Amino acid sequence: MSHYDFRILGKEHAAYPNQLDCTHNCTYIIQLLNPATGEIELELCPLSAEQFVGVLLEVIESCHLSA
Ligand SMILES: [Zn+2]
Repeated sequence: MSHYDFRILGKEHAAYPNQLDCTHNCTYIIQLLNPATGEIELELCPLSAEQFVGVLLEVIESCHLSA
């Protein structure tokens, strides 16, 4: 079982600053790293990460409902 590693960085160190889409003055970002390759899978500011997780949870929940 592999699990995702993560890094917390100052926003100015973002690998893909033009993809961040952060309009909330967040000061740091979260990078999720692929456990196999070590590559950055996902880079989000904390507020975008919360929204992202919320959407994922909704999708999972709807899968449970339709199963
Ligand atoms: Zn933000």
